Amino acid sequence: MTTETGLMRKINTRPPAPEDVGRTGTWELQVSDGAPVLIEGTFLGMSSSRRPSHENHDGSPYGTDGTWTTTNQRCSACRWFEPRIFVTTAEPHFFGLYKMGWTIVPEETVRLSYVEAGSAFELIESMAIRRQGKLVLPIPARRVIAQAAGYDSEIRDAYLDWRRSTA
Ligand SMILES: [Zn+2]
Repeated sequence: MTTETGLMRKINTRPPAPEDVGRTGTWELQVSDGAPVLIEGTFLGMSSSRRPSHENHDGSPYGTDGTWTTTNQRCSACRWFEPRIFVTTAEPHFFGLYKMGWTIVPEETVRLSYVEAGSAFELIESMAIRRQGKLVLPIPARRVIAQAAGYDSEIRDAYLDWRRSTA
C-alpha cells in the first residue's frame, strides 16, 4: 500500500531551472491571461535568448521594441525569451510549452503563456515562425527542442523530420 496521495504531492510554484531537466513533478505555471496552469509531468528542457551585455541601442537606455521573432536591432539583455517543454505523466501524453517573454524595460510587463500540443510535430510547428517567406525555428526554439530530444524520442524523431524537410 502506498501512502502517497494526490493531496500530498508537492507543487512547485516556480518554473523549473536548467538543473531540473529530466525531473518529474508538478508545476504551477503563471500565465499573463487567466488562471495559473497546473502540469504534472516531466520537464524536458529549456533555453534562453538572454545575453549578458546590451547591444544595438547606443545612446538610449533600452533597445527598441521587438519580439523573439525578429533579429534586427534587438537587445537580448533588455528583452529575452525563455521557452520550456514538458510532457505529461498521465495518458494520453501531451506536450506543454511554457513561454516566458522577459523584459527589464520600465512600463513593459513580462509575458507568460502556455500552450499544449498533442504531438511532438505540433509542438515544433507551434514554435516555427515565418522569416522572409521561409518557415524557420528561431535559435531559442531550436535549443529547447534539441534539449528535449535527449529525453523524449517522439520529439527527437519529429525534430529530425523537421530538419530534413526544411533543409
Ligand atoms: Zn539592452
